Amino acid sequence: MTDKPTALIHHPYQPPEGFEAVQPAVHKASTVIFKDTAALRARSWKNRAGYTYGLHGTPTTFTLEERIASLEGGLHCVLAPSGLAAITLVNMAFLKAGDEVLLPNNVYGPSREQARVLLAGFGVVWREYDPADPAALAAMVGPATKLVWVEAPGSVTMEFPDLRALVQAARSQGALCALDNTWGAGLAFDAFATGVDLSMQALTKYPSGGGDVLMGSVVTRDLDLHHKVLHAHGLLGVGVAGNDAELILRSLPTIGVRYAAHDRTARALAQWLGSQPQVSRVLHPALAGSPGHDHWAAHCSAAAGLFSVTFDERFGAAQVDTFVNSLRHFRLGYSWGGPMSLVVPYDLDVMRKGPARLPGHLVRFSIGLESVDDLQADLAQALAAAFTR
Ligand SMILES: *Cc1c(COP(=O)(O)O)cnc(C)c1O
Repeated sequence: MTDKPTALIHHPYQPPEGFEAVQPAVHKASTVIFKDTAALRARSWKNRAGYTYGLHGTPTTFTLEERIASLEGGLHCVLAPSGLAAITLVNMAFLKAGDEVLLPNNVYGPSREQARVLLAGFGVVWREYDPADPAALAAMVGPATKLVWVEAPGSVTMEFPDLRALVQAARSQGALCALDNTWGAGLAFDAFATGVDLSMQALTKYPSGGGDVLMGSVVTRDLDLHHKVLHAHGLLGVGVAGNDAELILRSLPTIGVRYAAHDRTARALAQWLGSQPQVSRVLHPALAGSPGHDHWAAHCSAAAGLFSVTFDERFGAAQVDTFVNSLRHFRLGYSWGGPMSLVVPYDLDVMRKGPARLPGHLVRFSIGLESVDDLQADLAQALAAAFTR
């Protein structure tokens, strides 16, 4: 007779088949069981028709990968444990010592830091280009340039580039082009219609929508590129957990209505802030007069709930801090895409040297799902508290 722990581990009960529910099941595994030695020897991390080891995927992570690939109009997807880890996967898969990578000068900050600290340490040359000048990018891309990152719009300063022209400039010289598509989220524009080879997203933002999980993805239409990313994924050991994948799977069906709601409220508040005397500039690509608005209009049918403002130059950093600290519905914190509106003051002098200098202090807002009236009233009381004394 087997004892109770053994009987519990090798329990014979199998639930009946045929269960169907709205959400997929959550599968968790490090070990995956093979039915015999032939099956074990036939395993391959490349083959998504089977399972090899938890790191290489479960039905839950494969389901999420398929859905993210569909969302972005791609064919293959690899998940990573954060958006930054997804950037790492692309860099590790396609760069080696002596290669060059080009980044836009308004790139997501930690991506630049990864190039400066880690890639440079591995002998990869990195340079910044001006995303407002596709011809200058075309002139920079040389035989050593293996990868060009594009981002639309730029982090924090929100300039929307002529994305198709940038991608063409990169690819015409034979470099791979990877898009950081976190802002677009697969909804604002069709990433692969721009010609990019790879589209990376921080699923942490809109696909999660909860502000409670980190994840990233790399989508492509090319099987060979996909296998290179997948190989780097396995060698770096950056798998995602079933419970984390479940959180994204649960939020994904509502991403369309959430994104539209973030967009609507953000445009209303950006417009209203633009009419306030303390605000010198509103940086929201869907608003006429914002940098790159025409490119946004040529590429996009929607916008994320994200924008920045600069304050009149007569206001100092302390007053801008008072404004931020006076907000009650907008909480002070990084990231975006969740239900709660967030605010971060940025020091442009410290952030970057490249793009045209913006005078005044900059504050970025991430618009959540609160009512537009409550958010506007909050902004109004904080403007009054900070700037009219
Ligand atoms: C947040 C973000 C990332 C990184 O995502 P994490 O999941 O926070 O690592 C990358 N790119 C952009 C544009 C982002 O906004």
